Amino acid sequence: GGTGTASTLRQVKLEKESELRIEVANDTPLRLRLLNGTAEIFGTELPPQIWLTFPPHFKFAVFTWYGATIEMDGTTETDYTADETPMVSYVNVHAVLDGRRNQAKASPESSQGPRVIVVGPTDSGKSTLSRMLLSWAAKQGWKPTFVDLDIGQGSITAPGCIAATPIELPIDPVEGISLDMPLVYFYGHTTPSQNVDLYKALVKELAQILERQFTGNAESRASGMVINTMGWIEGVGYELILHAIDTFNANVVLVLGQEKLFSMLRDVLKSKPNVDVLKLQKSGGVVSRSSKFRQKSRSYRIREYFYGIANDLSPHSNIANFSDLFVYRIGGGPQAPRSALPIGADPVANPLRVAPVNIDRDLLHVVLAVSYAQEPDQIVSSNVAGFIYVTDIDLQRRKITYLSPTAGELPSKYLVMGTLTWLET
Ligand code: ATP
Repeated sequence: GGTGTASTLRQVKLEKESELRIEVANDTPLRLRLLNGTAEIFGTELPPQIWLTFPPHFKFAVFTWYGATIEMDGTTETDYTADETPMVSYVNVHAVLDGRRNQAKASPESSQGPRVIVVGPTDSGKSTLSRMLLSWAAKQGWKPTFVDLDIGQGSITAPGCIAATPIELPIDPVEGISLDMPLVYFYGHTTPSQNVDLYKALVKELAQILERQFTGNAESRASGMVINTMGWIEGVGYELILHAIDTFNANVVLVLGQEKLFSMLRDVLKSKPNVDVLKLQKSGGVVSRSSKFRQKSRSYRIREYFYGIANDLSPHSNIANFSDLFVYRIGGGPQAPRSALPIGADPVANPLRVAPVNIDRDLLHVVLAVSYAQEPDQIVSSNVAGFIYVTDIDLQRRKITYLSPTAGELPSKYLVMGTLTWLET
């Protein structure tokens, strides 16, 4: 164990129920393969003998239930083995959920499978636990829906969004969640306090659409959902957790790594006998990330959206006339002073107001969402097709240059702007 810096081929033997925790070096990737035995990365089994390449900064663990030998090639920031993990308790939760899925499948009355919501402070391993539960379920042939409400470090699409996608196969340990056609709502900011009402409105929209999809799909209904949340658990953050539990009708609440949050939720949810609140131990392997690292990984996620995880995508640079595109902003707007309002009127600007934005230099380096809305007043209730990135604004010729994952016309002329920006590096 310890800190490894040597760039040599080496083997690590893992005893049963232990894991190899790795932080890949900052500048070079790491190659790794399973030599013998069986092992998994966050719920997804490793193929025998095949080399996998993990990008710089990647933090993960290779866990084995029965013992394995792992081979590594390249440098790591750290790597060590740990034999104390909460994996047995996690897989026990999976077993209970699996039982409920089978029940749901068998009984036509309560055909709804478990709706699991994972909550806890930042860096408690919420995303990782969500991923394991999804991959274990998918391995069993279920198609659970993954709902990611984390606008800061979400794992379905770009930051600033809430999104959902069915998981049909165990999640790829390197590539993450496959991106075919996720259902995405654009919030536009990376902190919910920017516009709490908008955040709630989008959570509600997403939940309604999923509810509708479940009605027509017995298989995904029985498979249920796994909902990942933000690490914001105090004040408004706590209120948003309760809002999410309520809106998605979650019936299993998994609380990671915080006694206080667990007891608060248990007490407040006592009145709902069909909701189970469970406390789970945080893994000692979860790596704490500084706000600078979080900022960096957000920027990396945007890059990944356009260029792919291994630079395997080539986005297109397009030019449009100012008059071809309509950019909107949700909420904010000028706030009238109280003195200017009739007595008793609310001085707060409508948080769901959709207002047109003038195209000018302020749009440079902004990430805009392409809305599916047919009319501007549908923008809040519409999901988005994807994103564009503004690389140039020519005020003289009134032309806007932007990066888009695909060539040709955008699926809609309605674009949504938040505070999400990106500096291409
Ligand atoms: P957030 O605060 O963003 O909501 P989170 O609670 O979802 O964070 P994760 O993203 O699951 O936390 O974990 C934080 C980091 O720790 C991730 O990079 C993850 O890959 C890593 N990690 C989680 N579990 C382990 C482990 N057992 N060994 C090594 N690394 C791990």
